[in-house]
Amino acid sequence: MMNNKEPIDIIGEYPSDIKIWHFEARTYIPYDKANKWLVVLGVGEEHLDGYTFTQCAHCGAITEVGSMYTSRMIHTNVGFGYSVCEECYNKERKLEMDSLHDVQQ
Ligand SMILES: [Zn+2]
Repeated sequence: MMNNKEPIDIIGEYPSDIKIWHFEARTYIPYDKANKWLVVLGVGEEHLDGYTFTQCAHCGAITEVGSMYTSRMIHTNVGFGYSVCEECYNKERKLEMDSLHDVQQ
């Protein structure tokens, strides 16, 4: 977790093409509140050192890059997923599962 005693290295970019998938409506909607966060695309192994931080593209929390997941909902215009914290990823998975159950009924 974050250690406030040490300066932390926050990587990422301010996204210009970020949007969020709405599982129920099955469409993307703008996600403007993320425009001022430093975010990265889905985590690659080069970032798994545990000392590099970025912001969760879903909630903005400063998070160790090595503990993040590729979002099911927060995507670029061409569909690449941004990195999100574990808590948001679990929420996204639940929303996705709930929407699938709705379809099957
Ligand atoms: Zn989050």
